[in-house]
Amino acid sequence: MDLDLLSQTLAEIGQPAYRAGQVWRWLAAGAGWQEMTNLPSSLRGELAERLPLSSLTLREEAHARDGTVKALLHTADGRPLEAVMMRYRDGRRSICLSSQSGCPLTCSFCATGTMRFARNLTASEILDQALHFTRRLRRAEEEDSLRRPRGRAPARVAPGTDAAATLTNAVFMGMGEPMMNLDAVLAACERLPDLGIGHRSITISTVGWIPGIERLASQAMPVRLAISLHAAEEDLRSELMPVNDRYPLDQVIEACAAFYAARKRRIFVEYVMLAGVNDRYEQALALARLLGAVRGTAGSTIFKVNLIPYNPTATSAGFAGSNRDSIEAFRSVLADRGIPVTVRLTRGRDIAAACGQLAAAAG
Ligand code: SAH
Repeated sequence: MDLDLLSQTLAEIGQPAYRAGQVWRWLAAGAGWQEMTNLPSSLRGELAERLPLSSLTLREEAHARDGTVKALLHTADGRPLEAVMMRYRDGRRSICLSSQSGCPLTCSFCATGTMRFARNLTASEILDQALHFTRRLRRAEEEDSLRRPRGRAPARVAPGTDAAATLTNAVFMGMGEPMMNLDAVLAACERLPDLGIGHRSITISTVGWIPGIERLASQAMPVRLAISLHAAEEDLRSELMPVNDRYPLDQVIEACAAFYAARKRRIFVEYVMLAGVNDRYEQALALARLLGAVRGTAGSTIFKVNLIPYNPTATSAGFAGSNRDSIEAFRSVLADRGIPVTVRLTRGRDIAAACGQLAAAAG
């Protein structure tokens, strides 16, 4: 829903301003026009005629065997983007949001970087990705039609109870660089709690766009920061991520230290494991040294590393993922040196919905 257009339309048809809030509450609960029962039915009809429920249209939806759902969506001007919902056994339902259609950065291993950059998404277009899945969940409650991970009990409450299944977490790890579109990203974040996603359950991931990190540190919402690092040496990082020439690693680490000092929240480090490129023993040591050198309150580390198994892309540019043993060896070097580290669970790979695979293939 284009919320500005909603307010404008309500004003045009002589409705009081509080109607916008009423409509928003219904939308945030995943309802369609006809369910908005505290609006006069003539008004519901009029709004339905004049306003699309979403600023995005669904082009395709793919369901992975693990229960992950990927939506290919188009903006009104035909720009493609993708959003992904992941459901976990502990009941969390996390959504991976896009901030741009395409991405102007050209990280060599990422599929999104190879598609044409279209434009920044608006706050409404970002929110509408989440609302798409909110509606999906509401309908699933009613129809129980969403596929579940095989052989597992659905992690949700019984239909008809008040505690409906809502989204719980959001990560800005879809298409695009959120820090290059931070106004819209933050405006969307302001409203995500209405959908059940608290600010502390939102993570904004960046290539290390320093002005964005600084702004995020100084604004009010307690959202989390994740940095796509992928290398602990300047040269290698520049090769993998050309943006490193503009914002070099050492300055990104400094910006992270300042973020921690301001927010007292640990920063996630994403590190995609590329065989023979960044997964050697010495490289694990270098990463442990780099991250271990920055200490927070009471001497604790301010970083938590997430090792990401490389997901193949159509344009893999000669990269191959590290094998399990190399990932485990890398992990233990970090863990032994006191750096908190986990290996990211790969989700949705069979539908090209995993990290770095979002390229709007059907767009
Ligand atoms: N532009 C932001 C937001 C995108 S996050 C950023 O880069 O942080 C998407 C994450 O997936 C990034 O950490 C990215 O480096 C990683 N990624 C890209 N291609 C990948 C691939 N093929 N396999 C695994 N992870 C990948």
